[in-house]
Amino acid sequence: MEKEHTLDWLIDLVENAKSINTEEVKKNAVASVPTSLVESLMHNVASTKPSKELKLLGKGVPASPGAATGVVCFSSDSVLDATDEGEKVILVCNETSPADEIGMRMAEGIITVRGGMASHAAVVARGWGIPAVVGVSEMEISETEIKIGENKVEEGAHISLDGSTGELFSGEMELQESSEEISELKVILDWADEIRSGHIKVRANSDTGKDTERALSFGAEGIGLCRTEHMFMGDRLPLIQRFILSGDESEEEKESLNELMAAQRSDLSEVISAMAPNPVTVRLLDAPLHEFLGEEMQDEWLEHNPMLGTRGVRLAILREQLYRMQTRALIGALSDVKEMGKKPNADIMIPLVSEVRELNLVRSWIEEEIASMEDELRPSIGTMIETPRAAITAEEVAKSADFFSFGTNDLTQLVFGFSRDDIESRVIGMYINEGILSANPFEKIDFQGVGHVIKHAIDEGRKINPELEIGVCGEHGGDPESIQFFFEAGVDYVSCSPFRVPVARLAAAQAVLSSFK
Ligand code: PEP
Ligand code: MG
Repeated sequence: MEKEHTLDWLIDLVENAKSINTEEVKKNAVASVPTSLVESLMHNVASTKPSKELKLLGKGVPASPGAATGVVCFSSDSVLDATDEGEKVILVCNETSPADEIGMRMAEGIITVRGGMASHAAVVARGWGIPAVVGVSEMEISETEIKIGENKVEEGAHISLDGSTGELFSGEMELQESSEEISELKVILDWADEIRSGHIKVRANSDTGKDTERALSFGAEGIGLCRTEHMFMGDRLPLIQRFILSGDESEEEKESLNELMAAQRSDLSEVISAMAPNPVTVRLLDAPLHEFLGEEMQDEWLEHNPMLGTRGVRLAILREQLYRMQTRALIGALSDVKEMGKKPNADIMIPLVSEVRELNLVRSWIEEEIASMEDELRPSIGTMIETPRAAITAEEVAKSADFFSFGTNDLTQLVFGFSRDDIESRVIGMYINEGILSANPFEKIDFQGVGHVIKHAIDEGRKINPELEIGVCGEHGGDPESIQFFFEAGVDYVSCSPFRVPVARLAAAQAVLSSFK
């Protein structure tokens, strides 16, 4: 972003454009706003005032933008204790898992030793608008302190981070508060919406009623990805663990599924009612087992490559009752929302499909469950395209899918063969420095490779169904350059973390403007 692109500059731009008030001037105004300005207005930023107390400790992957400061806590439990005492806290740990989410939500910022743009800590932090720096591979955490090179910070001492640059500092940083409510920003985004209307939609990824309301306030036109496994965190983790560890078709399985169904139904109705009448795409469970079972529980489920293991549709095929239960929970949620006097609108999406017969089988179970529903509420059934094989065989897959949504996190992982959890801190930074890669492919879509696979899948899918609705719900859905690529490739909508929705609205309008130049 150029120096002169400040909030004052934006205010002047909008005032001038409003005084002339022609379509041309509005379009030029929208085209001239850097997406980085909108991003910086959405988050707290590090104050520009230099501070003697701050000392640069090191750098990691800038996983979730914004600056944050607080005292170091090493676990979710100590975050909760410290926030109870009124402290502002930064969670520092090797990596995060669903069990940490209660603490993550309460933290001002998150720092992890391992991970990258598409790892658990990064995806969750971006979703909640919490600044995060991940993959700080030179950081060591001992019982009482962290060590980065020669520098040490004790648990309970102040640490600061800038999630936009990846920098970490010891000491307390002065912050400049975010300014989301600026009316000129609202005007620019409304003009952006007029420009992209009828061309490309912007949805959000959300799995709670609260985040859905926030997404709506940021201008989301639907939920493109509701990750149902995120509904099984915290207190509910034992329930999903009990289900996974129970025998197929056992009494134990039945009981755990009943409990899960009640929880799922109420969560889904919150999300669907907050977004009604706009659509919510409910992604059925995709729980990488290592994230859900602690090490001590893994035993027979232990996998060398859990991200390539019993995930998504694969677990569902091993355990037929799982997706049937989730479908019943959704049916219940739809009727609950209808009873509230709203117009519920939800679809079902199947994760990690690589062979169309996987989709056919689970689709047949879901269709049995929804057969007696009234037409108006009946969800359509689509698939994520997130394995290279699903993309390559998209012509076949499209015969069984009502819509496609690209999971570009997994697709990038699998097309490159780069682990989304481990590769960024060591290899990607080095590859960028050496000029082997021009950007982090987990941040900006790799046009040549992953992009090629995406275009192929769109062309093949629309050969079968020219009206096939196609979205993107991986993290790239909130990245401006990637949005331009997706629009040109023929995508109908992008879906991203709620906090990235304003940037995506602007980027989508700019993509439309540049394609009609
Ligand atoms: C993806 O893979 O891009 C995706 C959206 O799914 P998840 O990140 O939950 O694996
Ligand atoms: Mg995925």
